Amino acid sequence: MYTIGIDIGGTKIKFGMFDEQNKIVKVEVIKTPKEAVLETMIETISAMGNEGEIQGIGIATAGIIDIEKGVITSAANIPAFVNLPLKTSLEMEFHVPVMIANDANSAALAEGNEGVAKKVSNFISLTIGTGIGGGIIQDNKLVHGTSGFGGEAGHMVIVHNGRTCGCGRKGCWETYASGRALERMIQENPALASKKMQPKDLFLNYNSNDACKEIIDTFVDYLSVGILNLQYTMDPEMIVVGGGVIDSSDHWWHLLQEKITATSTIPINIRQAQLKNDASMIGAGYLTKK
Ligand code: ADP
Ligand code: ZN
Repeated sequence: MYTIGIDIGGTKIKFGMFDEQNKIVKVEVIKTPKEAVLETMIETISAMGNEGEIQGIGIATAGIIDIEKGVITSAANIPAFVNLPLKTSLEMEFHVPVMIANDANSAALAEGNEGVAKKVSNFISLTIGTGIGGGIIQDNKLVHGTSGFGGEAGHMVIVHNGRTCGCGRKGCWETYASGRALERMIQENPALASKKMQPKDLFLNYNSNDACKEIIDTFVDYLSVGILNLQYTMDPEMIVVGGGVIDSSDHWWHLLQEKITATSTIPINIRQAQLKNDASMIGAGYLTKK
């Protein structure tokens, strides 16, 4: 018997087929469809396994999800998926349980089952990518919260009346400590913007360019404040940090650790995520097993 784990992103959708030991036996990648979404999803899943072989389907996705109904209620990058009866359609087609969760929540499940937080029962996982995603694992279970917003740490307000966030509120953490925040700080500096710098270039030029150093120091500052807020709130055994910005971690991880050690009065254990690009798909494979 197999489980299907799916990661829906703005440009591509990854389908993984997992055996009973959770080993990946097949992966299929398709371009994110702009129409005929349900038909495309059903077709791709059907092509992966025979009727009766599949025992559950988990879906990790960007956007805001109504977990109970299994519907993506809003998602800027995947408009064709919004308000589709994804869960009920797939359940009717395949006669197996289908579960949808936020991609950062799924990444947390993956790290807990197979990654750096394996054997850790209480931890928080953060993905520092375009925004900041989060997932909370409490007693080995994902915390969905009352309305499915559990772990949305990127939208905790870190600057009262601060910068406007994509969510419409002001001062959210992800407007100060994400990949997009780094891109914004580059654009606000004409000298760096004219060089068409990318976030990774800031890290590479940390020691030779004062403007780059200032941006990175500001980024690490805000990152550390948010991480410490989470530690003081939940007191987890571990805080796992992943996402696109971690690809430059050789240049900033020590800065984050120094900052955290200098400003925390309680023990904190921060670790880098292990599973990188496939984390959400792997985590999706565990969604119907919990
Ligand atoms: P998404 O958030 O869409 O899932 P990623 O996790 O890949 O995507 O994160 C994308 C963000 O990470 C972008 O803002 C990008 O500028 C930034 N980023 C990508 N690679 C690096 C890198 N090597 N160093 C620092 N930042 C990076
Ligand atoms: Zn926000």
